[in-house]
Amino acid sequence: MIETDTAARAPHVEHGAQFTDSLVTATWTPSVGWGPAGLGPLSHFAMHPGMIGLHYGQVVFEGLKAYRQADGSMAVFRPRENARRFQRSARRLAMPEVPEEMFLRAVEAVVAADGRHVPDDPDVSLYLRPLLFASEANLMLRPANEYTFMMMAFVAGGFFGGVVEPVRVWVSRSTARAFPGGTGDVKCAANYAGAFLAQREAQMQGCHQVVWLDAGQRRWVEELGGMNLFFVRGDGVDAEVLTPELTGTLLPGVTRDTLLTLASRLGYRAGTTRLTVEDWRRECAAGVITEVFACGTAAVVTPVGSVRDGDTGWTVGDGQPGPVTRRLRQALVDLHHGTAPDPDGWLHPVR
Ligand SMILES: *Cc1c(COP(=O)(O)O)cnc(C)c1O
Repeated sequence: MIETDTAARAPHVEHGAQFTDSLVTATWTPSVGWGPAGLGPLSHFAMHPGMIGLHYGQVVFEGLKAYRQADGSMAVFRPRENARRFQRSARRLAMPEVPEEMFLRAVEAVVAADGRHVPDDPDVSLYLRPLLFASEANLMLRPANEYTFMMMAFVAGGFFGGVVEPVRVWVSRSTARAFPGGTGDVKCAANYAGAFLAQREAQMQGCHQVVWLDAGQRRWVEELGGMNLFFVRGDGVDAEVLTPELTGTLLPGVTRDTLLTLASRLGYRAGTTRLTVEDWRRECAAGVITEVFACGTAAVVTPVGSVRDGDTGWTVGDGQPGPVTRRLRQALVDLHHGTAPDPDGWLHPVR
């Protein structure tokens, strides 16, 4: 979740450090399968120094949020999507899957226990972090025979005070995030460690986030840090809202999927495309691309103001959040908080 960096620009609270009180834990062994999941206090836990997850990176995670609703209750946004993606991630790393219902019960347990930490402020939510790791101690290079599932949470947001600042982004030419046949389409821990160096490079260039290109030709725009990207062509009712197609090296974001639906519902032509960095630069110069934004569970919708690629750079539109971006962001926030219709039943209430 490299998108944390956007929020970390805020001065007072560091995003991701405000953990709540509870932790759900369960263990898997080959003989028993999944044991019971228990809710307890979040605390340090003992691990063997030879734990497979620590050495070989057999670790996957998820990220989803619970939002305070108008009636004061809490609801989680599309948790089944995260449960299924968590299963896909586990399968890719030869790990046992956490059953969807077990995942949902763990989400509900943490939200029920810790939801009270979320104030009645639409900028604040409860970020849930499911984690699955190989907990067997063994240094043979093979999948583990014991796994631990955990669900923790932290209080997220409230840093921007409702103001959404556009980010400056930097095109990574030396590092790739994902490659065909790799793990770019799942949320495994190693993907993020491999991206930290480029993120630091971007910061040294005065930028906030890294634009990832395809690893083969280094031309096609894929993602932004730990977020998916959207491009707006044209404006007004004729605006077209486009996101790079899922080629197997992009992470299929739940927010991305949600925004494709919301954009159509708002009357925009919405769909997928393939775009090179050169197209991005040229179409911004020609005024064809009018807005660009990134999206993800943590960052919601974040406008992209300008791009740096080596010695060249360009501005997107006038560098400020555009009307389509602002409208989509508001539609998403309204959906999260239950103040807009939810025809697809995406909100999962927690009592
Ligand atoms: C998590 C993530 C996203 C966003 O996914 P959401 O489900 O919308 O939070 C996008 N790209 C990468 C690389 C990610 O890890």
